[in-house]
Amino acid sequence: MNLELTDEQEAVRRLARDFVRREVTPYAAAWDRAEEVDRGIVKKLGEVGFLGLTIDEEYGGSGGDHLAYCLVTEELGRGDSSVRGIVSVSLGLVAKTIAAWGTEEQKRTWLPGLTSGAYVGCFGLTEPGTGSDAGNLATRAVRDGDEYVIDGSKMFITNGTWADVVLLFARSTDAPGHKGVSAFLVPTDTAGLTRRAVHGKLGLRGQATAELVFDGVRVPASAMLGEEGKGFSVAMSALAKGRMSVAAGCVGIAQAALDAAVAYAGEREQFGKPIAGHQLVQELISDIAVDVDAARLLTWRVADLIDRGKPFAVESSKAKLFASEAAVRAANNALQVFGGYGYIDEYPAGKLLRDARVMTLYEGTSQIQKLVIGRALTGISAF
Ligand code: FAD
Repeated sequence: MNLELTDEQEAVRRLARDFVRREVTPYAAAWDRAEEVDRGIVKKLGEVGFLGLTIDEEYGGSGGDHLAYCLVTEELGRGDSSVRGIVSVSLGLVAKTIAAWGTEEQKRTWLPGLTSGAYVGCFGLTEPGTGSDAGNLATRAVRDGDEYVIDGSKMFITNGTWADVVLLFARSTDAPGHKGVSAFLVPTDTAGLTRRAVHGKLGLRGQATAELVFDGVRVPASAMLGEEGKGFSVAMSALAKGRMSVAAGCVGIAQAALDAAVAYAGEREQFGKPIAGHQLVQELISDIAVDVDAARLLTWRVADLIDRGKPFAVESSKAKLFASEAAVRAANNALQVFGGYGYIDEYPAGKLLRDARVMTLYEGTSQIQKLVIGRALTGISAF
């Protein structure tokens, strides 16, 4: 792998840095306090092409490779993880999955809107009773003539209250385990679908997270994404790439923690000199720096594998596992550098730590990533 960025990748990174400096960083703390990102950001993300990365121009995408996608995701995560998550889900989990599995009609119906920011997408897998054991879904889609009738509920759905379309996973046959699961594209204005915002989150407070309830929701059979019974494969293929995107967002958090810790340690004086001159403070800072680099390299490796058409799912689990735990460590170390000021929200470390914490939970907890990696190494599934 060539670790030097191409001119194009450098240009995309500069564009993302500039965008985040103008449109995200100045507002991130206020959005966090208000528990709502300004929805206008979606249109702006679309205009600058960040919601169409890796998607063909034919469908409104802005092209580019997965490393460019990681660079943008890192910069967004460095500015505000709530904004980063909008892209990771609407583009990463929904648009990219439609591009990979959709019929021509599904691509033409949804991709131009999702890539321009006219539409927002959400990914409906988790249920109130089903999280890690994601194939064991209770939501049902029953065939009725040319339609499916969907009943059930989905929990913790990122972009949920904003979304125009749900990529929904439901059991549509009696085949055992995940073999009975199918994927559907459900417009959120369909009768019988209601949404309730989830408030009081520890982090990602600006993000629109929702519970979705399906009560006799009817969709045409053409709304199925991929074949009947292949929905679990659709979900897992989305999450394999999604984990790279989460990892890139975590690199952004860790980089922001490093930036903040170095700046503060240089300004704050104790015992007659900047705290940056105390060895144990340098230890905190150097630990963050190593975490940033290691997480970034693992993440870039996944992007490189995808771009070269190689298997990447296990590497993606490794990157997500390491980067999410590293982001928590990095933000916690930064908070320590800030001392008591780290504990109040006028300073950035507390938000970074709160935002980092969920990364070890969603798109597969750290324990689930270890089971994926362990299965690949031993050949034995311990799920
Ligand atoms: P559980 O599965 O109940 O796990 C509880 C604990 O048990 C964890 O520590 C877990 O690691 C452990 N555990 C479970 N099984 C095993 C095992 N076999 N071996 C060892 N340990 C095990 N979901 C979506 O579908 N779409 C979204 O957009 C989305 N966004 C989210 C946003 C936020 C802010 C949050 C908090 C969650 C989101 N989720 C979303 C859901 C998320 O993916 C789940 O919370 C996650 O998969 C864990 O499921 P759970 O919460 O039910 O925990």
